[in-house]
Amino acid sequence: MSDRHLIIIGGGLAGLSAGCYARRAGFRTTIVEHNLALGGVCAAWHRGPYLVDGCIHWLTGGAFQQVYEELDILPAVKLNVLDTWVTYRDASTGFEVALTRDLDALARRLTDAAPEDAAEIARMRDGARALLAMHPSIDSPELATVGDTMSQLWEMRGALGSLVHFRKPMGRWAAEHVRSAQLRRMFAQLMPESTPALFLLLVLGYLGEGYLSRPVGGTEAFRDALVHAYRSLGGESMVHSTVDEVVVRGDRARGVRLADGTIMDADLVLSTSSGPETVLRLLGGRYEGDAMRKRMAAWTTFDPIVLASFGVAAPFAETPSLLELDRVPPFEVGGRRNDSLMVRVCNDDPCFAPVGHTVIQALVPTDYEWWATRGARYNDEKDVLAERLVGVLAPHFPGLADLVRLTDVATPLTYWHTARSWRGAFEGWQPSGEAIFARLHKRLSGLDGFYMAGQWVEPGGGVPTAVMSGRHAVQLMCRDEGRVFTPTGMNWN
Ligand SMILES: Cc1cc2nc3c(=O)[nH]c(=O)nc-3n(C[C@H](O)[C@H](O)[C@H](O)COP(=O)(O)OP(=O)(O)OC[C@H]3O[C@@H](n4cnc5c(N)ncnc54)[C@H](O)[C@@H]3O)c2cc1C
Repeated sequence: MSDRHLIIIGGGLAGLSAGCYARRAGFRTTIVEHNLALGGVCAAWHRGPYLVDGCIHWLTGGAFQQVYEELDILPAVKLNVLDTWVTYRDASTGFEVALTRDLDALARRLTDAAPEDAAEIARMRDGARALLAMHPSIDSPELATVGDTMSQLWEMRGALGSLVHFRKPMGRWAAEHVRSAQLRRMFAQLMPESTPALFLLLVLGYLGEGYLSRPVGGTEAFRDALVHAYRSLGGESMVHSTVDEVVVRGDRARGVRLADGTIMDADLVLSTSSGPETVLRLLGGRYEGDAMRKRMAAWTTFDPIVLASFGVAAPFAETPSLLELDRVPPFEVGGRRNDSLMVRVCNDDPCFAPVGHTVIQALVPTDYEWWATRGARYNDEKDVLAERLVGVLAPHFPGLADLVRLTDVATPLTYWHTARSWRGAFEGWQPSGEAIFARLHKRLSGLDGFYMAGQWVEPGGGVPTAVMSGRHAVQLMCRDEGRVFTPTGMNWN
């Protein structure tokens, strides 16, 4: 077996995935993780009898299923296929739509609500189906041959009309093509405005095909299966250890220096930390620093969030398990006024709460700076906010105030302290057209033996892209090291 040693900075999904593939390719691997536990932002934590699920609202399968299988997450974890992706409710008008797997029924429901948009709704439904004919490759695009690119283009031919029509940012597409103000408002709440409308079609297409699911046992089961796979492959890890510098000699990564001054030697280093931290702090801006600074000025990161979870003594079994609540009376969250929020009701899996109880979660955009400047009032502000959110939710959950048995509030500082999410951007860069089509590389020019993976090199973030990017980085590594990439089995010669 090879003794080439790879240090992986960060034990989130991308780091764990890279670790598994690197072990299969015969590298010795050590994950160095800042937090007390592995998993990164893909986290779940126990609070008394409740399990607070901090991540997976929906898991995208389809082409990505193979990656989960290679990583031994499937079939170890069972999946519950989603019949409804999300239910949109306009609290001011009572308008409600469940975005269901039956795309024809969904199109009929939307057309009933907005007959003037019948043609555009039909176009969406057909486009969602047409996009499914494309089979995104799970192999590294940086290793794609001309032949690979040509065959992908060929597969796209049937979807070309939809690709052109829906390539516009959500906000612009809705403004130009949707006449009903109610539907325009709904679409704008479902995806960030700068995201190409194509993303919505892709989600609907995947939903229609049964490719969207939730892991049985929630985020915890998914994360633990991947941690188990990494450990079973002989991967090593250190937690509560922060990397302060990537050690470079002769334009080659040679190891890392930890916050306590310890130097760890390595033949190869892979970072899954945020782009700004990796390029500007750990490497001191010496490799592609200017490009990163420009990106930070021009691109948008995901809004920081508050995730407030309430353990409640009622099952709320009939409430949709994912609810986009819109046009509620305006309320403030960390210096930011909101009139909408995403609500998760964990009523679809017994793992979250004792019988007769459930966990209700509110996910709301907020301001990083506000939380970072609360000083000694930080915890009090969390309590104040929790109470305010119960008030916002109460009209939709009768009797809520008297039913709450547990309150847990995660702020952007929680994401910084536990996963070093840069300024609370829990999913990295927003997937604007520019960010997606720029195709970020997983190497930095001029620096050998160094790779990157994770949501900061995959704009839009998400579970599937995080694990796939770990695969891509190891494919590049195998190419550079003259090794065969073995996605399953072992190559320990
Ligand atoms: C509330 C929430 C809901 C979500 N819902 C979904 C969903 O429904 N579906 C979906 O697909 N995705 C969802 N996501 C997104 C998905 O979880 C992430 O995109 C993915 O887990 C990111 O993995 P990663 O490994 O790239 O990054 P991270 O999880 O951020 O991992 C990076 C790791 O590196 C460590 N690290 C950073 N710097 C250092 C350093 N200097 N030294 C040591 N360690 C370091 C961090 O502590 C962290 O553990 C959600 C995320 C959140 C927060």
